[in-house]
Amino acid sequence: MKRAVPIATALVLLAGASVAVAVLRDADPVAAGGGRAAQEDPPASEEAEEEPLPAKAYLRKACRLPERWVSLIVRGWNPSPERGPDLVIVPKPPNYVGSFINTSHSGPYDFLQKVPLIFYGPGHIQELSRFDPGREVTLADIAPTYAEMLGFDFPARDGTSISEILETSSAPPKLIVTVSIDGGGWNLLERWPDEWPKIAQLIGEGVNIEGAVGGSSPSITPAIHTNMSTGAWPARHGVTAIAVRSRNGAIVGAFTKSTNDTGVPVNPTKTLKVTTIGDLWDKANDNLPKVGLMASGNYPLGMLGRGAQLHGGDKDVAAFLEEGGAWTTDPRFYSLPEEANEQEFGPASDLEDVDRADGQADGAWLGHDLATTGLGNTPAAAAWEERTAETILEAEDFGLDGTTDLFYLHFKSPDHVGHKWNMISPEAREVLASVDTAIGRLRSWLDHNIGEDGYVLTITADHGQTPIEAGGWPVNRTELLADVQRRFDRVEDDLGIIQRTSATSLFSNLREMKANGVTPEMVSSYLSRYTIGDNSPEGTEIPTGFEDRAAEPVFSAVFPGRKLPLIEQCSGA
Ligand SMILES: [Zn+2]
Repeated sequence: MKRAVPIATALVLLAGASVAVAVLRDADPVAAGGGRAAQEDPPASEEAEEEPLPAKAYLRKACRLPERWVSLIVRGWNPSPERGPDLVIVPKPPNYVGSFINTSHSGPYDFLQKVPLIFYGPGHIQELSRFDPGREVTLADIAPTYAEMLGFDFPARDGTSISEILETSSAPPKLIVTVSIDGGGWNLLERWPDEWPKIAQLIGEGVNIEGAVGGSSPSITPAIHTNMSTGAWPARHGVTAIAVRSRNGAIVGAFTKSTNDTGVPVNPTKTLKVTTIGDLWDKANDNLPKVGLMASGNYPLGMLGRGAQLHGGDKDVAAFLEEGGAWTTDPRFYSLPEEANEQEFGPASDLEDVDRADGQADGAWLGHDLATTGLGNTPAAAAWEERTAETILEAEDFGLDGTTDLFYLHFKSPDHVGHKWNMISPEAREVLASVDTAIGRLRSWLDHNIGEDGYVLTITADHGQTPIEAGGWPVNRTELLADVQRRFDRVEDDLGIIQRTSATSLFSNLREMKANGVTPEMVSSYLSRYTIGDNSPEGTEIPTGFEDRAAEPVFSAVFPGRKLPLIEQCSGA
């Protein structure tokens, strides 16, 4: 915690010497837990008199959040009691939790929520190019829209079919392919407008739903992909984030026991509480439909469903891309055609193409050694995935019989590159172009193998990204945790007040809070006044560009999840 001496603090300092001592002591980890530091007091003039209880100031702040943000947060929050003491943190945009290079992208803000939602399919989808339905459209509308195309009775949840775009007289397509570009929200596409001609062509000959949004916050891979295929919000479907507070209170991964497991084995219902359209369509047709997913890691598993874990279900295709470029599955619930890993040319040939693309076979791409950069961070990833998609679609006879098949394809590289070099980097530009090229190839393959009017191709994305140039303060989690500890934790043990952090939530350690006589409300109160200066590590200069911003609050609001119903009311959401 760096002393930036904001004006409010300076005023309090003038007010009395004893307070000044508290301020000085606050810098000392041992003494900090003691008396209330002046720093945590609200500015004396406006807040202190009308609201004597400090806990109320953070609530007033939360009540001033835009209604829209509150709605998106409510949809994305698990409303059960075990989650109640955990804190919702709403960074004041463009602030974000992360570092100066590694930005995060979780939140209710438009720039993260706005995503392409493109449907293409001659004979099935009207050629409207751009269509604004005049109501909110979210990715939870995808499953009901497919259900209407299929003439299938899908349970009404949170989404609504976008009926207006469908050709009314058509028979169902033989195959519906859904492509998700991880991190491919509109702000990435708009940043690089010349890099996606194939996607633009699909908009021209199909339709983009104007104003479409992911639909819930946090805007994060597991949650938003599950919205797509369940037609429900995370509050209902259960897959709220990468780290999820489970029914027994433990913190687990969306589809795994540990939050660190991005591969196999998976447990499809670790947190997922409802069925997907793939689950139900497959089962209703005696498992005749082919249902498949190709994804980098298990985070997008909610797009597919539970495979043979569903009573009466079968082993749908689930191909997970491992870091080295091999495909794997969890054979207990899913299948993987062996052809995927037996192709004549493996990912090495895609890396060679990337290497040669700049005219020199020197093992480098934009100055990075391709041998150590990691396939997933290069344009080779999308190329390899698309070639494998053709192989799997062909091996499994997708789209060949009279029952509609569903295939989901997830491109992770734009998100990986965005975290590694940021969305404004040349790397991001080239990787976006590689995804567009792959989409163009996939379309050609579908035209030739399924027939031009035999399929529907949907292109969407789970979230946008945070450009570093926007000037957001990167909330340093280590420093924040240390400050919370200094402020509240007086019990000498290894346990912290906060059990785990994420970009939109702090998981409370309720037992440790109780041992210290601390409540989630008290921590919220402290953090809702937490400033850029506070979050700058001790002994470091406040970085260039932020010198005058030390007194700025880091968060728009911080509050315990159990206060959400109240905040919904007071914000008007
Ligand atoms: Zn990401």
